[in-house]
Amino acid sequence: MCEVTTLGAYGSRSSKGGSSAFLLDSSRVIDAGHLLDPLQEQSCQIEEVWLTHSHLDHIVDIAYILDNYFQQRTKTLRLRGLPQTLHTLRQHFFNHEIWPDFSTIPLASGVMALSYEPIELHQCYTIGEGRTIEAYPTDHTVPSCGYILTHANRTLLLTADTYALASTLAMCEANPTLTALVVECSFPSAMEALAFASKHLTPKLLFEGLRPLEGRGLTLYINHLKPAYESQLRQEIAQMAGGWSPIVLHDGDCIVF
Ligand SMILES: [Zn+2]
Ligand SMILES: [Zn+2]
Repeated sequence: MCEVTTLGAYGSRSSKGGSSAFLLDSSRVIDAGHLLDPLQEQSCQIEEVWLTHSHLDHIVDIAYILDNYFQQRTKTLRLRGLPQTLHTLRQHFFNHEIWPDFSTIPLASGVMALSYEPIELHQCYTIGEGRTIEAYPTDHTVPSCGYILTHANRTLLLTADTYALASTLAMCEANPTLTALVVECSFPSAMEALAFASKHLTPKLLFEGLRPLEGRGLTLYINHLKPAYESQLRQEIAQMAGGWSPIVLHDGDCIVF
């Protein structure tokens, strides 16, 4: 059994929990919406952030872990992501105006605090022994990708923020070792117009979209609930799940695949 830890499960930050972040191992995360609170000083060990896209709920704690633990850090924090995502962070976030440009600031060890390392879609990258990660394109308001994580012949797919599920279905169908998926669900089904405008899913859209995968015995995890609609979303998910037994993630939950 392979495990990924949910550091932040929600589609926004609130008293209920943090926004998107998943711990892959002691030095790697997918997204950085919630690293500082759950990891605290352990966040110094994070060396790679695999970004799905540039939205604040997925990047914000890059700023705070660098700032709070600058002196304790010894290694460069490597941002991996689509070229457009890295460009946006460089231009609009770590630009000395919103937050320091840490790619020009050395740590005490002499290496720069931050680096930008673009990835290619559908390229398999090795991350640790026997573990690979591959990005595939998803459907959001900015360039975005989901990730496919494979370890010991078992595969987990994370959609991150998306509206259409066509590329996700294609990846699932092409992947015989897939055992689990994490799919976003942000707004109640009655808010379909907002879901479309902001390129997110509702329970209705999610379960309609996943219908071709029903019966494959996959474990379905759901994340990125907007906290304001949490109870309504949980109700709708339970009502519309059909043949699925979805697990709606909380901060700290383990994802097993
Ligand atoms: Zn988001
Ligand atoms: Zn987003």
